[in-house]
Amino acid sequence: ASSSCWEHRVVLLGDPGVGKTSLANANTEVEAAYERTLLVDGEETTLLVMDTWEPERKGESWRRNQCLQMGNAYVIVYSITDRSSFESASELRIHLRRARQAEDIPIILVGNKSDLVRCREVSIEEGRACAVVFDCKFIETSAALQHNVDELFEGVVRQLRLRREGK
Ligand code: GDP
Repeated sequence: ASSSCWEHRVVLLGDPGVGKTSLANANTEVEAAYERTLLVDGEETTLLVMDTWEPERKGESWRRNQCLQMGNAYVIVYSITDRSSFESASELRIHLRRARQAEDIPIILVGNKSDLVRCREVSIEEGRACAVVFDCKFIETSAALQHNVDELFEGVVRQLRLRREGK
């Protein structure tokens, strides 16, 4: 098997309710819910999308640490309808940087629920500006309308490949 058959672990981070499970499941077969094979630029890549991030429970910080250690790429999700989830995204970026110092891992900041225009609390400009500070990619998605979900995971694949080729 060539290296392109290797599965990349993509970990979804973010507050409860922002849409992590919905993003992981969107556009996929039910049986293979968390495995996504994408054809990007003529080459297939399989992503194992992990939606195991949970609210912190006392005495169980190892769970979160495990999530922060196991990913080959990270998707930090907030809801555009929930400002506190946007603030949590910044904290998650800091945790991730601490946990994976000196590693150049792909990170994508995602503003989900872009369909809920009337409930918007975080502007697209704020999302973009935050991604500049984080030094990561940014995209707004709607898991409900399946808008930009494929683009999100294609972006993850491209980021992984850029790093592979850079080495
Ligand atoms: P998680 O806790 O981060 O995994 O969030 P879920 O995927 O369970 O989603 C929480 C709720 O938000 C569910 O009721 C979803 O149906 C809803 N939801 C998720 N993504 C979207 C979206 O893009 N648009 C809308 N309108 N609702 C969404």
